[in-house]
This record gives sequence, structure tokens and C-alpha cells, in this order.
Amino acid sequence: MQACPFRCIFCDQEKISGHLNIPVAEDVVQIIEKHLETIPATNSIIELGFFGGTFTGLPLHQQETYLNAAKPYLETGKISGIRLSTRPDFIDEEILDFLKKHHVKTIELGAQSMNDEVLKKSGRGHTTADIVAAAEKIVENSFRLGLQMMIGLPGDTMENAIFTAKRFVEMLAVDVRIYPLVVIKGTPLEKMYSSGKYVPLSLEDAVKTTSEVSKIFEAAGVNIIRTGLHPSEGLLNGDDLIAGPFHVSFKELVLTERWREIFSKIQKPENTSQISISVGGRELNYAVGYQASNKNLLLKTYQKVNFKIDESLKNREYHVNFY
Ligand code: SF4
Repeated sequence: MQACPFRCIFCDQEKISGHLNIPVAEDVVQIIEKHLETIPATNSIIELGFFGGTFTGLPLHQQETYLNAAKPYLETGKISGIRLSTRPDFIDEEILDFLKKHHVKTIELGAQSMNDEVLKKSGRGHTTADIVAAAEKIVENSFRLGLQMMIGLPGDTMENAIFTAKRFVEMLAVDVRIYPLVVIKGTPLEKMYSSGKYVPLSLEDAVKTTSEVSKIFEAAGVNIIRTGLHPSEGLLNGDDLIAGPFHVSFKELVLTERWREIFSKIQKPENTSQISISVGGRELNYAVGYQASNKNLLLKTYQKVNFKIDESLKNREYHVNFY
């Protein structure tokens, strides 16, 4: 939040990112070294990310200090590029030129919603026109565009969320992150919640909305690189969490829902009592479901339910056999 001219009603970056101190250049080097040790050098695409605030709102010399800390790693090929997050109203041609010179490849915008009323109620301090203008400049300047959206903002609806996702696709987002809104201690949203002016989504509704939105991104070939909040210590132990749909396995719940919906449409042929379902290896756990919920649901219809891996299948592709 160091560079933020506004305070979004939901934000307390310290609690969300789990970091209380703003890193100095030496910290950046240390973080890179520590992580490089754990990442296999072969078959890895290693990027450095600056997240948790408005990077391009920082004074230029501070941005430069951070970016220069990464320079030796870029020159030796240990890191292939840099990505960062910022606000849509902190993007202009000059900033983009500067970022390009410093090997930034991906710029993620905290867009949150493509509904102006929702942005206003959330205290974002920018409009949807700002998002569109920034996204266009980013794409025109050959950066990869990332867009972040939130589910359950004040005034938000399922229809708004779907509209936001469709607009993200039209704006040529390559990567997206989907965050369900939770009420964090000490934020303006907490006051709204306490006075009854804000009602968070239930976990079930947040999962349902995210599931619908994820279908749009998946169909358009947009990478969903994050579903759910980063589980910082304060969220995990509940110290910072006042209310809202926080769940450590949020992504798993969403993908479980995607598969539940698919399985609910399968018609059981007469004179069969067993079902065998093949899915891609990466989908097996989600197809079986969080705490085997999908399998247990199928067991209400079939005496035996068997899941198999078929690596030729991707995403939500599947084969089914009945016995
Ligand atoms: S722009 Fe981002 S970091 Fe700044 S207050 Fe809003 S959510 Fe927090």
C-alpha cells in the first residue's frame, strides 16, 4: 500500500501478503537466492514477481533499485523475466518504456471489476475506462497482460462477475487471478460488515460464482494462475479474518464444483450399476472431489465408482464407461 493514493475498502496488504516490512534491494536478492535453491534449473521457467501493492506508483528510483537487484539473474539466465502488479491508473507510455528496459514481461492489473458502480463502492479510485486504457497500452507495448478480479465486492452480482470475465477476455488477458472477497480486520470493509452494510458471500456462492467465471476463462484459453487468497498466517489462524469465504483449498472446491456439475448431467443407462470415469492426471483429485465429495455423490447412484487417469485428456475432458 506504500504507493497507493487510495485505500480500497477491503485492503490491508500487510495482512493479505503476510509481510509487514517493505523489502530493500538486499532482501530481494536474498529472496531470489533462497527460492532458486528450491527450483529445479532444468524444465523450469523462472520469473521474479513483485506483488502486493502498486509497483509503478513507487518513486522511480525505488522501482529501479528493485529491478536492478534482479539484473544479474536476468543476465545469467537464472531468471527469464519479471512480472509485477499495479493499479490501472498507474500505467502510461513512460512507465511502460521504463519497465521494458528493465526486462519486465508481464504486468498484472488489479482490475477487480468491470462495473463502475462496484469499483466506486469498493473505494478503488479508478474507473473501468482506466482499466481498458491501461490494458490496451500494455498489450500494444507487447507485454503479457494479467488481470486480477474479485468476487463478492459491494454491489457485485453473479452477472457482474460474468461480465467482468468476458471483458477480461476481450481485453486480451493472458493470465488472470480470481480472489473471493473476505473481510480483513482493521479495513473499512470491517466497519461496513459490522454495521450490516456489507454481507459477504457464503463459501458456497463464492465457489459457484468462481466456477462460472472460470468456465469463461478456460473456454478462451486464458490461464487462471490463482484461485483464492494466498493463505497468510493471519488468515490461516483466523486472527485477521473477520468474515467471508476464505478456505485454504478454495481452488480445489471450485474445481470440485466444475466436475460435480459435469457428473450431474451423466445419465445412468438401464441395467448398469457401476461407473468408471477417466480424466487427465492433473484433474483426478478435483474429479474425485474435495474430501471425495463427487465420488460420494456418485455412490448414491452407482454401487461402484472407479476413477482412472488418461493422460491424453485435458482440463474437463473425460471418458465414461458403465457396467
Ligand atoms: S490498490 Fe491494491 S494495494 Fe492499494 S489499497 Fe487497493 S488493493 Fe490495496
